[in-house]
Amino acid sequence: MNILMVASECEPFIKSGGLADVVGTLPRYLKRLGIDVRVIIPKYQAIDGRKYNLETLPYKLTVKVGADTESFRLKTYTTDDGVIVYFIESMRYFNRPGIYGINGVDYPDNMQRFIFFCKAVLESVKALMFRPDIIHCHDWQTGLIPAYLKTVLKDDGFFWSTSSAYTIHNIAYQGQYPANAVEVGGFSWADFVPEKLEFYNHVNFMKCGICLADAVSTVSPTYAKEIREFNGRGMEIVLNSRRDHIYGILNGLDYDYWNPAKDKNIAANYDKADPSGKKLCKVELQKICGFDIDPDAFLLGCVSRLDGQKGFDIIVDAMYLLDDKNIQFVVLGSGDPTIKRYLTEAKNKYPKTVAAFFDYNESLAHKIYAGSDLYMMPSKFEPCGLSQMIALTYGTPPLVNNTGGLADTVKYYVDETKTGNGFVFNITYGENFTQTILKAEAVFKNKKQWESLMNNAFDSKFSWEKSVLEYEDMYQELIDNKKIEVATR
Ligand code: ADP
Repeated sequence: MNILMVASECEPFIKSGGLADVVGTLPRYLKRLGIDVRVIIPKYQAIDGRKYNLETLPYKLTVKVGADTESFRLKTYTTDDGVIVYFIESMRYFNRPGIYGINGVDYPDNMQRFIFFCKAVLESVKALMFRPDIIHCHDWQTGLIPAYLKTVLKDDGFFWSTSSAYTIHNIAYQGQYPANAVEVGGFSWADFVPEKLEFYNHVNFMKCGICLADAVSTVSPTYAKEIREFNGRGMEIVLNSRRDHIYGILNGLDYDYWNPAKDKNIAANYDKADPSGKKLCKVELQKICGFDIDPDAFLLGCVSRLDGQKGFDIIVDAMYLLDDKNIQFVVLGSGDPTIKRYLTEAKNKYPKTVAAFFDYNESLAHKIYAGSDLYMMPSKFEPCGLSQMIALTYGTPPLVNNTGGLADTVKYYVDETKTGNGFVFNITYGENFTQTILKAEAVFKNKKQWESLMNNAFDSKFSWEKSVLEYEDMYQELIDNKKIEVATR
C-alpha cells in the first residue's frame, strides 16, 4: 500500500494548528505498519531549508494557473522514521512570511496559491513516478485534488489505480471563491454543476473534497455526526449525500512528547503512581501568575487560540461570577484582539485570581497543563481537540462542553461508580459552565473523590496505534473498491 499525504501544514516544519500535528504524526504510525507513506507540503519561507538540509530534486516543473505558466522545484527530506517529505517550492506563491496571510488578513491570492499547490502536487507525483494507491488530502487547501482526479484527469492512465481520501479538520474554514476559479483552475464549465464544483454559484474547495473524494473522514466520531446534522456550516446536505462514505476517526496524542514523567518544562516530574510532583507544579504556576500560594485554591487553566469557537465569553463570565470563591484562573492564548481585551479587563480587576498571557509559549503551556487542577475547554464546537487529551495525561481533569471530540474523550465523573474523567455540560441544553465549575469544586474539596478522578484522567489514553488501524481499514476499502472499478472498466 502506498499513500501520499497532501496538506498545507506538517509538524515539525510548519504549524498553525492541530492539522500540522496530525499530518506530522499519522505518517510515522502508518510507516510502522509497513506502508510506503510520503508527505507533500508547500515550501514556505518559514521552513528553514538549511536546518533540515533539504535536497533539491533535479526536476524543473511547471503548471498553468489561469493564463500564467508557473514554474516550481521539488525539495525533499527524509524523517528519522523514514517518511519522505516533499516540499513544493514556488517563489511566487510560497516565499512569503505567512502561511495563509499576514497580521490576521488572508493573502488576496489564496485561491491561486492553492489551485497552484493542488496542480503542482499532481504534476509532482508524475515526475517522481510515484503512483499512490491513495492521495490523502487534508482540509480546504487540498480539496481540489479529488476534483481534478474526477474531472480533468479522469482519463489519465497514470491515476487509474489512485483513489482519494479527504479529511476535514475544521469545517469552519472552507476556501470559498468566485466561479472564475473554474477557469483559473483549468476546469471545464461543464463540471460547474452541484454534484461537482458548483456551490451556490461559487467554487468551494472543501465542498469539492467532500463531494468528489472516494472517502471522507473527520477527526472524531461525534463531529462526523454533528457536521451532517446541524454543525456543518452549510455543508450538511452535501455531507449527507456522502453519508455512507464518511468516517469519524479520533486523533491520537503523541505520548512521547506529552509526558509529565519526563517533561523538562515543569517544576517536578510525576505520574499516576507518584503524583506528588504535581503539587510543586501548582506552586510554580501560582507564582508565575502572581496568585497566593494556596494548595486549597481551585486553579483552573486554559491554553488555546483566542477564537470565538473556544468559548471565552463564558470563561470570562465565570471569572466575574465566581469572584467570591477561592478559585484562580489562568489563560494562555493568542488571536482575537476582542477576546484579549475582555481577558485583560478581568485580569486588571482581579489580579490575585485571574492571570492571562497573550503569546504562543510552549513552555508555559506545559506548566499550565501540569500545574492546574482543572482544565477549561467550553468550546462551542470542537472537531477533535488535543488540549483536553494533553490535560488528561497530566492528571488535570477537563471541564468541557458536550460537543465533537470533547464528547468522545471526556465523561462526567460519578463518584458512586468511580467512572468518568472530567466534567461535561451541554450548552445546547442550556446547561451552565459556571455551575459546572462549582460542581467540580465540590469534588475537588473531597480529597478521596478528587484522587479517584485524577487516576481516571491519568488512565485516559487516546493513542495513534488504535486510530492508525482505522485509517488503514479506510485505505484498504478504497483500494479494494478501486480494483473492482478497474477490472470492470
Ligand atoms: P486547535 O487545533 O483548534 O487550535 P487543539 O486543542 O486541537 O485546538 O490544539 C491546540 C494545540 O495548540 C494544543 O497543543 C495547545 O497546547 C496548543 N496551543 C494553543 N495555543 C497555544 C499558545 N498560546 N501557546 C502554546 N501552545 C498553544
